[in-house]
Amino acid sequence: MEKEKTIAQQKKEALLSSAKHAVMRMSDEELAACDAFCEDYKVFLDKAKTEREAVSFVEDALQKNGFIKFVPGMELKAGDKIYVNNRSKAIIMATIGTAPITEGVRLNAAHIDSPRLDMKQHPLYEDNELAFFKTHYYGGIKKYQWTAIPLSLHGVVIRKDGTSVEICIGEDENDPIFCITDLLPHLAANQMKRTLNEGIQGEELNILVGSRPFKDDRESNLVKLAIMDILHEKYGIIEDDFISAELEAVPAFKAKDVGFDRSMIGAYGHDDRVCAYTAFEAALGSKAPVHTGVTILTDKEETGSDGNTGLCSAYLKYFIYDLAECFGANGRAVLSASRCLSADVNAAFDPTFPDVLERNNCAYFNRGVCVTKFTGARGKSGTSDASAEFVGEIRRLLDENNVIWQTGELGKVDMGGGGTVAMYVANLNVDTIDVGVPVLSMHAPYELVAKTDVYAAYKAFAAFLES
Ligand code: MN
Ligand code: MN
Repeated sequence: MEKEKTIAQQKKEALLSSAKHAVMRMSDEELAACDAFCEDYKVFLDKAKTEREAVSFVEDALQKNGFIKFVPGMELKAGDKIYVNNRSKAIIMATIGTAPITEGVRLNAAHIDSPRLDMKQHPLYEDNELAFFKTHYYGGIKKYQWTAIPLSLHGVVIRKDGTSVEICIGEDENDPIFCITDLLPHLAANQMKRTLNEGIQGEELNILVGSRPFKDDRESNLVKLAIMDILHEKYGIIEDDFISAELEAVPAFKAKDVGFDRSMIGAYGHDDRVCAYTAFEAALGSKAPVHTGVTILTDKEETGSDGNTGLCSAYLKYFIYDLAECFGANGRAVLSASRCLSADVNAAFDPTFPDVLERNNCAYFNRGVCVTKFTGARGKSGTSDASAEFVGEIRRLLDENNVIWQTGELGKVDMGGGGTVAMYVANLNVDTIDVGVPVLSMHAPYELVAKTDVYAAYKAFAAFLES
């Protein structure tokens, strides 16, 4: 028989918050569903390493699931599914709800760009019979982490005549990969004296792309010529075509289970494809929501959300205004009544580096999806800080839908911090809060997430769309 609880025990249960490992709170069936969901997530991770590939993956799935291209002015009714592709680098999808549009939309907003190395406009050069690509890193990276790992090359080249060619080399088992060299420790005495920040510098992130010359005794720079010759043969491009190209080098690693217990996933670019994928799956599963459910997968978050495919641009606002007009409503009124989950990752507590996070207010692996009231840094600069009322609403929603969740702040108060798209959506007068998956080794070429947190994020985004 169970012992009677002491008054202190009863009060503890009633008054104090308790956090439990997700596995302790999930049935065997739910855990199996979680692991199955993560198998599909790994497929997405390997197929969609760049924003363009993510848009193409998502658009394909949307078309197969009855979503049609949105045309301003079109007639829409509850249950209709529409999408807008913004320049192949961002995408908005929506399912029309039964409530009037003036009651606002439910918006899940995630980003599909990840830190990487972009090729410069004149990337190809030869030095001592080795051919390289010059790069300019994209987003916040620890540069030393990007040397001596396999890299693949993704992107698009627009030829002089306006035709385009897509490039993806290094993902297929039989493809070659690329690599940035680092100095051998034997000769690195001076390099080792550099700070970690300068251990590898921006202009040292040069990607080795070839070493065999074009056979000719009279000319020089023949390795470069041989590489350009291969590229011309395979893709029909010439050196000047790099000027009108977007080529991105990303880690060539595949997504893999991590740990003896397979409880985690290691992959490039969980930030933020883990929220993009879960939000997208939630959108696919949404059939007849009350409020119109909108999911936006945006670009350029990692560089500050500027540009016409980033969320500082007006493309989201224009979409909501156009949508409102389809119902004869005012766009401004729709935005003001709308709610948004800014779906982005947060830092998970790392016992190896415990000093940067405050243990009472940070996110942990396997404690569920992380709700973050405010982001920013040092004195809450650069954030939208969700209202207590809106946090209360989200708290009830997650509890009512049995979503495992926790709260987390990105680092100790004076330590640093980071932002998401939350403030740009909030600036449109939308109630907005950050909700996302805790990540270890964030922005590293190989990031980690816990599977139960991925599944909890999916459940959170799905519940929100149905609210
Ligand atoms: Mn992010
Ligand atoms: Mn990031």
